[in-house]
Amino acid sequence: MKPINYHTHLEFSYFKYLNRPREKDFVSWLKKIISFKFLVKDELRILSIKKILKEYKDYYFWNIQTFTENEKILKILKRPNIKNFFEFIGLDENIAKLRFEKYIKIAKKYNFYLSAHAPYSVNPKYIKLIYKNTPIFKIHAAESKEEVDFLLGKKNSMYELFKNIGVLGNFTPPEKRPIEYLYELGVLSPKTYLVHCVHITEKEAYLIKKTGAKVILCPRSNYYLNVGKPPFDLFKKYNIPIFLGTDSLASNDDLNLYNEKKFSKKLIKDKL
Ligand SMILES: [Zn+2]
Repeated sequence: MKPINYHTHLEFSYFKYLNRPREKDFVSWLKKIISFKFLVKDELRILSIKKILKEYKDYYFWNIQTFTENEKILKILKRPNIKNFFEFIGLDENIAKLRFEKYIKIAKKYNFYLSAHAPYSVNPKYIKLIYKNTPIFKIHAAESKEEVDFLLGKKNSMYELFKNIGVLGNFTPPEKRPIEYLYELGVLSPKTYLVHCVHITEKEAYLIKKTGAKVILCPRSNYYLNVGKPPFDLFKKYNIPIFLGTDSLASNDDLNLYNEKKFSKKLIKDKL
């Protein structure tokens, strides 16, 4: 059986050719990702995706596709060893509404699963809508302290970034922690896969268990982005199903699951 990498973004494979020092914090990394969205040409994306797929031809990927709607890229990604999720971003309700129609058209055309990026980047109405219309619901959640504080209503660096780039719109923070918020939206169930879950409380671990949601961990990415480490003790205590991914080359050295496992074991053993 092919090893399954449960979380990656193949479109960020071009980061392999860039200098990638460990990040100061999550928001600094977000700024970098947003700026590269406009700087990188599709030719480089295509070349790097083809190369990485060749390198990991024995893998099965759950891939997230977000930033490019380039037909060539979408076609390259359509292959038997990739389960593709087309990710939606849109915090302001009006912007989300405008984007959604085009988004759903492309997802249907290529037969990609629908996916919401994160509780801090998608309007709640669209988180619920995407959840309703997909057999597997995948969402990044509780990845950084900045995300938690932003959702709790703090005017932190994430708030400032979103305000500066004009994406806040009419979004009002729920004043809840990420998993509690997703629970209240009714989008936690056995079909839900929560990516990261680094910053969860015991109550949130209980909610994950109670609803039958699952967790996908990417510990090397968490290390690279300096966001902390997953609470392995809590997952164990509540017997939460854990899956492993590498995230992308924008926050990791490779997409190798063996290396990810090795790092995770070290984290657990050394209690780093
Ligand atoms: Zn990710």
